Amino acid sequence: MSTIQLRNLTKTFGDFTALKTMDLDIADGEFMALLGPSGCGKSTTMNMIAGMEEPTSGKILFGERDMAGVPMGRRGVGFVFQNYAIFTHMTVRQNLAYGPKMRGAAKAEIDRRVGAIAELLQLTPLLDRKADRLSVNILQRVAIGRSAIMEPAIFLLDEPLSNVDAAFRAVMRTELKQLQRQFKQTMVYVTHDQLEAMTMADRIAVMDHGVLQQVGTPLEVYNNPVNVFVARFIGAPGMNLLKGRPAESDRGLVVDLGPLGITPPLPDDLAATVRGARGEVLYGFRPEQVALAQDGRGLAMSVTFVERIGARTIVHLGQGEGAVKAVFDNDVGLSIGQTAVVAPDALSVRVFDAATGVAMKAS
Ligand code: ATP
Repeated sequence: MSTIQLRNLTKTFGDFTALKTMDLDIADGEFMALLGPSGCGKSTTMNMIAGMEEPTSGKILFGERDMAGVPMGRRGVGFVFQNYAIFTHMTVRQNLAYGPKMRGAAKAEIDRRVGAIAELLQLTPLLDRKADRLSVNILQRVAIGRSAIMEPAIFLLDEPLSNVDAAFRAVMRTELKQLQRQFKQTMVYVTHDQLEAMTMADRIAVMDHGVLQQVGTPLEVYNNPVNVFVARFIGAPGMNLLKGRPAESDRGLVVDLGPLGITPPLPDDLAATVRGARGEVLYGFRPEQVALAQDGRGLAMSVTFVERIGARTIVHLGQGEGAVKAVFDNDVGLSIGQTAVVAPDALSVRVFDAATGVAMKAS
């Protein structure tokens, strides 16, 4: 079983804590992304799983086996880094064949595996090209192939696509997912790019400042962030958060946003929890989950900027702490200086405790 369990995993460098008591269960064959901003401890976690760093405290288990003291070469993991590591004086074929050859595989078996992996990674026409004549994009593909051909039960990838260009990254996202489906490895993928995490991972572990914030499917972390860090970090743009106070109205519980006015009523199950809140809350809604209200029921805000990105339009509204963004699938015909009335989709609204940043759960 290629499950990975992290138990109370902690790593300190001197008096700096890079990872704090992390608990995470990765299932056999699961694609888990470690996602977070630069310096949040993703690579430190990965290096400990790989056996390149020893934990300061806590445990790493592969299946039931404790990895304490087990060197990298004996862990049965494949590892691909941000910078490709391949032999530039060899051909693509020789690079791919290197690992199986070192393990003493028969020539026919090596040829079969090289052929299969080259086909999967679209390297077949390049098999006899010398690696030193290939682009960075292709070299990274070869590096992934070189690790994947060993069919490791656990495959660890640390920002493997950060040096390749945008168009190629999109292609590789699909290929990596196909690779994992085919070989059914347990895959741990470090990235700061939420698009990579959202499109490829079965589940995402969102990290910040050495602390695991939330683990969930891409849709769970998008729809139900556990705190304001995840709410802002996931989504492009992130969730809008407006400070206010719960208030009773004849239509139900609303949030009084001060100068911005009163929100539409909260759904009953969320209202039940928010009603008990003491102090200020943050009223959260995704930029994609708003409509322009025709009946005037919503938040009247002034348009400060309009970004047209191909099929989508991002409208910036309001100022300072009261600024929000709204994303529309078409050109909504708004321009700077106009007032728009935005109505967040009631069922998509999330409310957070302003003091702790923690999400209030619907009851
Ligand atoms: P990035 O994407 O920038 O690599 P990351 O989330 O992978 O970020 P880590 O590389 O795990 O972050 O680093 C987490 C923190 O630990 C950073 O503040 C980093 O400076 C620190 N750190 C990492 N390795 C060491 C080390 N060997 N000595 C001291 N500090 C370290």
